[in-house]
This record gives sequence, C-alpha cells and structure tokens, in this order.
Amino acid sequence: FTTKTTPGRHFLQIPGPSNVPDRVLRALDNPTMDHRGPDFGKLGGAILEKIKAIFQTKSHVVIFPASGTGAWEAALVNTLSPGDRVVMCETGHFASLWCEMAERLAIRPEVLKGDWRRGADPAQIEAHLRADKAHEIKAVCVVHNETSTGSTSRIAEVRRAIDAAGHPALLLVDTISGLASMEFKHDEWGVDVTVSGSQKGLMLPPGLSFNAVSAKALKANEAAKTTRSFWDWKPMIASNATGYFPYTPATNMLYALDTALDMIFEEGLENVFARHDRMAEATRRAVRAWGLEIQCDEPRHYSSVLTAVRVPEGHSANGLRGTILEKFNMSLGNGLGQLNDKVFRIGHLGDISELQLVGTLSGVEMGLRAAGIPHKPEGVKAAMDYIAGNN
Ligand code: PLP
Repeated sequence: FTTKTTPGRHFLQIPGPSNVPDRVLRALDNPTMDHRGPDFGKLGGAILEKIKAIFQTKSHVVIFPASGTGAWEAALVNTLSPGDRVVMCETGHFASLWCEMAERLAIRPEVLKGDWRRGADPAQIEAHLRADKAHEIKAVCVVHNETSTGSTSRIAEVRRAIDAAGHPALLLVDTISGLASMEFKHDEWGVDVTVSGSQKGLMLPPGLSFNAVSAKALKANEAAKTTRSFWDWKPMIASNATGYFPYTPATNMLYALDTALDMIFEEGLENVFARHDRMAEATRRAVRAWGLEIQCDEPRHYSSVLTAVRVPEGHSANGLRGTILEKFNMSLGNGLGQLNDKVFRIGHLGDISELQLVGTLSGVEMGLRAAGIPHKPEGVKAAMDYIAGNN
C-alpha cells in the first residue's frame, strides 16, 4: 500500500463511498464510549428515532455494523423461507448480485429480464404476479437506484402494480445508493423492507447498513424459516427499545451518523433532493454536449445520484479512468459486470457543491482529450450555463 503525495484534495467521484464532510470526520474522532453505559442509551435512542425521518417511516429501522450486502441478506433471511419463490427485477449488476445471494440462501428467484438501461417495469411485475393465481410468490425485490447503470425504479408505481394484481407479496427495496439523495417514502410507498447503507447519501464512511421494517414484514418474520443469527431483527428490536444493541455497535460510526443526520436536517431533506437533481441535470447536459451517450435510456428513470456514461465503440472506459486518476487525481466509478470498460460512472452525491461538480466535469473533459476519446469540448460550459441559470 503506497500513497502518492499529490497537492490539493483527491476528487472521490465514484458513486459511493462518497466524500465524508469534515464535520462528520470530527464526530468520528471522539473517544469510544461504553456501549452498555448510561450515556449510550440516550445516543442510541435518539439516533434510532432520528433515522426514521430519512426513510420517511414511523416503523422500526434496524442498524447493522455491516456493509450494504449484510442488510441485503438481513432483508431476505428475516422474511423468507428456503424454497420460497420471489420476483427479482434485473436492472443491472447490483440486482443480479442480490439475486445470486437469494439463490445461495435456497430462495427461488424468478428473474424479470432487463437491458440494464432503465429501472424495473411495473407492468411486467403486475403481469408476473397476476399469473401466480395461488399466491406462491412471497416477495418482489427491486433496486431503487441501480448504481451500476444510473437508472432508478419508480417504487410507488411498483407498489401500485402489486396492488393492481391483488397480490400479497412483500415489497423489498434496495435503496443503498438512493437514500438521502433521492426521494424515498418507506411508509407511503408501502415498502415492507427498505435496505440501505451508510457510505452514499448519508455521507458516512462504509460500515453501517439498515433495514426499515413494516408491520407486514415483522409478521412475515414470525413465519420465516431461513436460518439467521447475527442478522435476526428480533433481538435487535428488543434491545433498541431502550437505545441499546444486542452486540457491540459501531459506536464511532453512530457518532458520525448522528452528525450526518443533523447536517441533512439543517439543509432540509427536500433541499438535499433538489441539489442532487440539479447536479444530475448539469452532468447530463455536459455528457450530451460532449456528444457521448448516457447509459440510462429512459429519462423518467434518470438517477440523481450518478450518471453512467458510455464511451464510443473501440475506446476503453477503464483507460480513460486511469488517465484521469493519473493526471488529475480523480477517481470515477468503473463499469460493472457486462458494462466493464464500456461505461464510466460519475458520482454526484452526498457532500457535493456546484463548484465540486464543475471541477469533476472539468477533469472528465480534460481526460477525454488526454485519452484521445472523440468528443466536443463543450460539456463543462453546458453544465456551467445550467448551474448559473438555476442557482
Ligand atoms: N446495492 C447497491 C445498489 C449498491 O450500490 C451497493 C454498493 O455499491 C450494494 C448493493 C452493495 O453494498 P456494499 O458494497 O456496501 O455491501
């Protein structure tokens, strides 16, 4: 492990982990306290209450000391039994990974195929559920913000599709990269388990993940037979009632979470969403002005968290990223799975300002030139024109 000394700040513009604000770093840097002592219960209780506003829920939010993958597993093992049929919508790489996990847990996914250029199709979900007359399908799993493609699924429409089919399946939603950046309404949208993580819109380092849990999901938990121990909601919820955790929580990450939540509430959740929408629109204008193609092919499904950009045939997205890292000290997201080397991903989430975005886009534009990728050098100007007119 070597670190290159480069003047100025590294630009971490991958779609998560996102940049951690200094105020959050300072919160992390506090003495670790006794997680069974009297002060901890006050902190834990306050955070468990505050976090509900981010998920827009009155239900319980379970916090795990784990990456998002852990919370994916928790959502499945707490609600399903081996052999259960579930619907999985193939929106991209992360949806596929969740599907593989379900298979490893002896759950039987039925994959609704997708082309990795848009979110889930509610009509396809409705048709599949209507065909299941015996109501054997136990859950519909959807990725809200598909980080590999920059496409979102419209969860309220997915909910309506399930209701229109008159089907009792649970709705499990991964918003690991959407939460606290794009609108998400756990209660209003009738989501049963919302899965999320700390390292994206919440502006924390990786290491915490979440399940928001509906009353219906808690009922399913009683019947679910999949073996579980560390991920079991029951002891969590029992301990959380007094602000404590059944095993050692990530104490310093909870200090950081408390501070990040304060920062989000100070800005206002709606303003946070509007800022992300603005960053994303400016980025898309830059991409179009360069003459490059946005991976998401359906404007209603554009992500406000990241933009995946296709490089022209015969050119290497990984080569471009390497050039940008080497010359301009900026990290961009790589293409995942079938998109490897075909796209690069610009993260515009979390703790980001207009000037940081313009700096990011400048790095991309100079990188395109340095890597010899055909483009028109007009992207940064298009983004600045949009930002200047919308401030
Ligand atoms: N789901 C989505 C949409 C993601 O973006 C990620 C990570 O980027 C994951 C799941 C996996 O989360 P983690 O890498 O924190 O385990």
